[in-house]
Amino acid sequence: MTEMDPARTMRAMSFQAPREPLRAVEVAVPEPGPGQLLIRVHACAVCRTDLHLLDGEVEIAEAPRILGHQIVGTVEARGAGSGESKLNAGDRVGVPWLGWTDGTCRCCTSGRENLCPNARFTGRDIDGGYAEYTVADERFCFPIPASYSDEQATPLLCAGLIGYRALRMAGDARRLGFYGFGDSAHILAQIARWQGREVYAFTRPGADDAAGDFARELGAVWAGPSDEEPPERLEAAIVFAPVGALVPAALRALEPGGTVVCAGIHMSDIPQFPYEILWGERSVRSVANLTRLDGDELLALAPQVPVATRVSTYPLERTNDALADLRAGAFTGAAVILP
Ligand SMILES: [Zn+2]
Ligand SMILES: [Zn+2]
Repeated sequence: MTEMDPARTMRAMSFQAPREPLRAVEVAVPEPGPGQLLIRVHACAVCRTDLHLLDGEVEIAEAPRILGHQIVGTVEARGAGSGESKLNAGDRVGVPWLGWTDGTCRCCTSGRENLCPNARFTGRDIDGGYAEYTVADERFCFPIPASYSDEQATPLLCAGLIGYRALRMAGDARRLGFYGFGDSAHILAQIARWQGREVYAFTRPGADDAAGDFARELGAVWAGPSDEEPPERLEAAIVFAPVGALVPAALRALEPGGTVVCAGIHMSDIPQFPYEILWGERSVRSVANLTRLDGDELLALAPQVPVATRVSTYPLERTNDALADLRAGAFTGAAVILP
């Protein structure tokens, strides 16, 4: 790219401070540096992490910041001085939450780049996809399978990817519980069923049962409120909802040797619980972020299943409404912003 044309601006939704709505702004189109791509954003799915960022539960060190980390778009240009790349102008790419790592620390050199202490995350440390354009490090972008439309592909990039990592942590469990049946669970349910597992879906007590119906539609063998016991003991459970009280509830539903995997970046405090529900070699663990290998695996697997995502779309100007609807549980599946 040559020197920036001052007239070249874009619309974006910008985070200013915690507990303030995103602000509609007109800002300069970002310029890609060496090894970076300028991407025209076609669609960007909303994630629960965005609510944690908005609420100040996960910190944004430098504001203003453009949120959004499940981006699908086309490469418009590569930064001057970039070397050879598998991605070129015109290619459709996905940009996930993991935006940059140092590549040299003990985590990065041992297959755990998701834990890199210097990692930078899209839509938190790097401007993301609630905008007409974004810039991303090409090494962390994924080609998008051709069988997916832009908006259908977006939820795969975090809900799918981090959910897939959580599923891997559940090992070979056949009877699998999902606590919270939103964007991640609706993708994972399809994969789990395809793998021959049984899905038990736990939804918010007292809420209308749209999520439970949706789970049954996707092949869950049982769906019910999270304060109910499943008909069979589970071999593993994945907690997607950011509610600490679900951890002991999930432990009580497990058979010995089972694992509870906490898949969110933030959760309310976990209440005290008796040792006997952990006893019997049950374990509780979290899943943090993603590796590029997770992305490659999921994006190869999704078209085989094939995973069909359910999305509700919103124009860029209505990003705050999409976030409010996510908080209220007003849709099933995922919300996707179309800039
Ligand atoms: Zn996310
Ligand atoms: Zn590192």
